[in-house]
Parts: sequence; C-alpha cells; structure tokens
Amino acid sequence: MILNNELFAKHLQGMIKYPTISSVDPEKIDKQAFLDFHKYLEETYPLVHKTLEKEIIGRVGLLYRWKGTGKSNSLPLLLTAHQDVVPEGDHSMWKYPPFSGFIDDEDILWGRGSTDSKCNIQAYMDALELLIGDGFTPDYDLYLAFGYNEEIMGGPEAAAALIADELKKRNINLGMVIDECGGIIEKDGKFMAQIYPCEKGYADFEFTKMDEGGHAAYPKQHSSLGIIGKTAWTIEENMLPQKLTEPVINQFKSIAPFKDKELGDMLKDPKANWEKLKPIFEENVQYNALTRTTFAVTMAKGSDQANILPEKASLIVNTRLLPGDTIEELQNHFESIVPEGVEVKMIKGHNPPSISSIESEGYLTIKKVVEEKYPGISFVPSMLIGGTDSRYYCDICPTSSVYRFTGIRHTEKTAGAHRVNEHIDCSILADNVDFYVRLIQAYGN
Ligand SMILES: [Zn+2]
Repeated sequence: MILNNELFAKHLQGMIKYPTISSVDPEKIDKQAFLDFHKYLEETYPLVHKTLEKEIIGRVGLLYRWKGTGKSNSLPLLLTAHQDVVPEGDHSMWKYPPFSGFIDDEDILWGRGSTDSKCNIQAYMDALELLIGDGFTPDYDLYLAFGYNEEIMGGPEAAAALIADELKKRNINLGMVIDECGGIIEKDGKFMAQIYPCEKGYADFEFTKMDEGGHAAYPKQHSSLGIIGKTAWTIEENMLPQKLTEPVINQFKSIAPFKDKELGDMLKDPKANWEKLKPIFEENVQYNALTRTTFAVTMAKGSDQANILPEKASLIVNTRLLPGDTIEELQNHFESIVPEGVEVKMIKGHNPPSISSIESEGYLTIKKVVEEKYPGISFVPSMLIGGTDSRYYCDICPTSSVYRFTGIRHTEKTAGAHRVNEHIDCSILADNVDFYVRLIQAYGN
C-alpha cells in the first residue's frame, strides 16, 4: 500500500473547488455544487463506489455502507464528516482564491473546507480506496456519513439527524462513531493526542420587552430597550457558578505534565485543588468555558429609527451548556433574574449529548493504533466547546463510543477554520490516511 502525500493533496484540492456552503434556509443551498461534489467523489474513488452501497439522505446527504464479512461480533463503525463549509468571506482578504485549493511552494493547500472538514472526507475515502485495492474486507459493517448542514448547527433539516433516524429505522446500532476535531499535537518534542468524548450543549435565548412605544421627544425614564440593556447587564452579572465535570477532570489530569510546575501540580488533582484553581480558570476564557455554562450577550434590537421609542426591544444570548446542565434549568435561571415584564424564550438549541467512555473497546482501539505510530504519546480526553454532527449518533451507539478525533498532526502550517485563509499542511495527509487504514483494520478484532 503506497501512502502518497502528493496524490492525497491532489484529491483534497479537487474537493475544495466545490463551494458547498450551507444555509439556514435549506432551499437556498447551491444543490448543484453538492451534486458536482458527489460526482467528483465517484470519479476520484472508483473502488469505493464499486464496493460500497451509496444512498442520498435528505437533500444531499451521503450515506455509504461497506458490508462486512460478518465474522466480527462488533457493531458497525461509522466515520462521519460534513460536506458543507462556512461562507468564504471577503475574497480580497484571501491570499489565494478560497475555492482554488492552491498548493504553494511550502506544500500548504489553501481553501475553504481544507481543514473543516473536507480533509476528513478525503482521508476516509483514500483509506477505503487503498484498503479495497489491497483486497481487504472488514469483518464488520462500516458506514460513512456526510451531512450538509453541520456549520449551521443542523438548521431546520439536520442531515445527521436524518441519517441517524434512517439507521434507527433499520435497527442499526453503532459500535463506534468517529467525527472531526482533535488530532495529534506536538509540544516541546512530546506528542499528545487530543480526543473528545463529549461536547457542550448549545442554546440561543431571546429576551423581549414590549412597550406602547411613541415619540422619542416624550420618553419615560426607561424605554423597552433600556430595560433590555439592564437585562443584558443582569445576565452577565449572574453567571452560573464554575463547576468541575468528570470529562474536564480527566482533561486537566492529562494536560498536567505539559503545564509549568505550579499549575501542573494542582492540575494533577483538580478536585483537591479546586478552590485554588477556580480564580485561575475564571481569568482564562478557555478554562472558563471548560468549567462553566457560559452566557454571551450577542445581539440586541430596539426601534428602526432614532426618534421612535421601540414598541418591542429584544436581546439574544448565546449559551453553551456543560454536561449535566439543561436548557430547562437555564430558562428557570433567566426567568428568576430578569427585570419584570421581560419575556424569556429559548429559540434554538440542544442539551449536551451524553459523555462517551474512555474505557470502551473503541477508545482502546484508537489508543492502540495511535500508540503504534507515536510510542509514548499522551492521551488528552477533552471536552469540545463547539458542536459537531456526532451528537446525533449518541442515541444509537450503545457502547458509548462517540469520539471526535482525526489522525491529523497539527503543525503551524495548518490553520484558519471559519476564517479567511483557511489552509492545511499537505505533509501530514499521508499520516492521516494511514491512521484510518489502521483503525479500520484494527476495529472489530
Ligand atoms: Zn466542522
């Protein structure tokens, strides 16, 4: 089996050329861009398309099944990623055109989706193409699932939810799910593998204050927008307390050896040192997000003109929930603190999905495969602050093995997800493909 960086870069370059941008309005997506992308996959990976069954789910979702020999007792393995990308932003700010997939002299590939998450689709597909070429057939069933609206949190027709429903209807439970995020990080010559067995929940709340409105020349002391301003301030002043959750305890313990002595010593036992750690965490936005359900006041609206008192003023607060917290609890919390007459409504969101095990067979298989390549590597099971499509599969994974992890080794030549100038280091592509090749071979034994 030949792992060829140059060939993988060429495959990824081809994928970048399709502007598969998701939209909150499903009618507004460029369906043709997705269909052309499907055709490109067909042409680039003939063995995959000859061997696996392929279905379109929803508008342009992709579900593939590689039927195994059935010799393994393991439940199916699902590899997932999303076809959609975020809008490219201002073209003039891109070093190279966002949908060119240009590869520069330093072997860096530029383009929207290069890191998030077409590199995953490329790695899965290349791994399968190579394995099939080698005459390999898994002893278990393997699924590939590629949604088309991850970047808008699923929206009104979450493709991953449609795929999970379809599998449920067919009574298919999964043995392990692998999704985007995570990977191999190198620090001071030491390697660590960041793997996410859980992620935070998400909810947008709207706060509204109604009023009779009127001419701005005859105002009362507080307009509805003034009261909404007080609401914003009150929410920020009434954060929920910091909290240590099991996944974050594991995360801190495993990063302890990488921190300076004083902090590292405390992180070895976060529970015992919690009172000392709390103020340190509160100062750091990253740590704060790991130890708290966060509230971010992001949008506000009054009237449409300077001399009109608003009849309706509103505010949006984006919240990210720690495992264990619920949207209902947040609703109650907000209702208990907002000024009188302010209405609280959850407009979009989901509770945190279940936390996967770090002792399951699947987790141990990932560990084994990674350790083969990087002997002595440390594992950092972590909590993902953002969200992924993988959450939709938690319900049909009775082995509690839903992991956000890729074989990508992060170098300073890879960056820019969701920003202009997204780019990836092509020199790591072969290692990534190799990880999936070996994972697929190791799984189910
Ligand atoms: Zn993504």
